[in-house]
Amino acid sequence: MSETTELKHATLVTEGIVTGYEDGSRPRLVGGYCPDCARWYFPCPSYCRSCLEPVQAADLGGEGKLHAFTVIRMRPPLGLPQPYAVGYVDLKESGLRVFCLLDPSAIDRYRLDMPLRLTVSVLGHDGSGQPCLRPYFSPGDHHEDAEKETDTGGGEVRDE
Ligand SMILES: [Zn+2]
Repeated sequence: MSETTELKHATLVTEGIVTGYEDGSRPRLVGGYCPDCARWYFPCPSYCRSCLEPVQAADLGGEGKLHAFTVIRMRPPLGLPQPYAVGYVDLKESGLRVFCLLDPSAIDRYRLDMPLRLTVSVLGHDGSGQPCLRPYFSPGDHHEDAEKETDTGGGEVRDE
């Protein structure tokens, strides 16, 4: 009945790519990082594409900026709403560009370079018709860039 109930019964569409949604904290993407090459990856590969060494799992955060997007008006797969949107998001902390679903309820609001925040919620269903938890980016309309007191990530990049 409630969204919370539905969320408990739904399963994540792909395991291991997102964390922080189960306990109500901030959802964050899980990727990889090669310290030797200073290269980020999403999703986390088993080895670095550059040096072929093992890659460490890395928290990629849940914030980014919209680089490009498109709205798809054709009949959608897997119970996604019609229309729905996908885009490229530049992640704030790593600078990695990822391709992902965008919040379908915000289709009229997408603008290039707008801040986005990762959400994990029930969206569509899986191949057997069961509701699915999917990570997607929503507009991050918080005016928090001006002065941020509690920086939970600790991975801020500072110029000087
Ligand atoms: Zn490497």
